[in-house]
Amino acid sequence: MNQPSNVDSQEISKFDRVARLWWDTDGKMGMLHVINPLRTRFVLDQAPLRQSRVIDIGCGGGIFAEALAEAGAKVVGIDQAQQTLEIARQHATKSGLAIDYRLQTVEHLVTQEAGSYDVVTCMEMLEHVPNPASVVNACARLLKPGGHAFFSTINRTLKAFLFAIVGGEYILHILPRGTHRYNKLIRPDELRKWSATGGLEFVSIASLMYDPLAKHFRVVPGKEDINYMACFTKKD
Ligand code: SAH
Repeated sequence: MNQPSNVDSQEISKFDRVARLWWDTDGKMGMLHVINPLRTRFVLDQAPLRQSRVIDIGCGGGIFAEALAEAGAKVVGIDQAQQTLEIARQHATKSGLAIDYRLQTVEHLVTQEAGSYDVVTCMEMLEHVPNPASVVNACARLLKPGGHAFFSTINRTLKAFLFAIVGGEYILHILPRGTHRYNKLIRPDELRKWSATGGLEFVSIASLMYDPLAKHFRVVPGKEDINYMACFTKKD
C-alpha cells in the first residue's frame, strides 16, 4: 500500500514499537493515563456525548477513545499505526466497548464522511504529522454544523522545550526520549488560525499544569502554557 501523504512513517513506527505498552499505566504511555480524566472532563463539560457520533483522530491504543465511549458516545477511532490499532481493538473487547477502529487518515476519511460527526477529537497527534493544518482542516469538514472539535498538543515555546522535552524526556523520564521535536510543536495562535480557515469558531482553551513534586496535573482554564487543549465549534 502507498504511504498516505500526510503521514510521517518514522513517527508511526515509534508508536508501533511500544504498541504493547499503551495500557501499561506505569510504562512509557503512563502520562497519557494520568491526563486522561482531565482531558475527558474538558470535553464532557463542553459537548454532550451521550449517543453522539464521535471520531478520535490519532487514537493510538484507545486510551481516550475508551473514555469517550464510556461516557456514552458512539466512537470511531482512526490511526496509522497497525499494531497499535490491534492493541486498541483487543482492549476495547476486554472492556466490553464497541469502538470502530480503522486504519485510515483523516484526509481520506473526510472524502467519505464529511459533515457526519457531532464531535471530533484529536489529542496529542498534531505534533506528529508533516502538515498539521491539513489535519485540522479535515477535522473541521468531518463535523456537522454546530458540532465540536477538540485538539490538544504542546506549545512551541522555550518553556515547553525546557519542561516537556528536556525535563520530561531527559531528566524526569516521564515521556520516552524522542517523543517530541521542538520544531513540530504548535502555538495556540497557529491552531486558532488553521481552525478559523476551516470554518471553526474558537470556544475555549485550557492548559494542563504539572506539579513534578506531587506528580499531579490540574487544568487551568484560559491559560496557554505547555500542554494545552482547545475547543472549537463549527459554524451553522
Ligand atoms: N490520541 C491518543 C494517542 C496520542 S499519540 C491519546 O492521546 O491517547 C499520537 C498518535 O497519532 C499515535 O498513535 C500515532 O500513530 C498517531 N498518528 C500519527 N500520525 C498520524 C496520521 N497521519 N494519521 C493518523 N494517526 C496518526
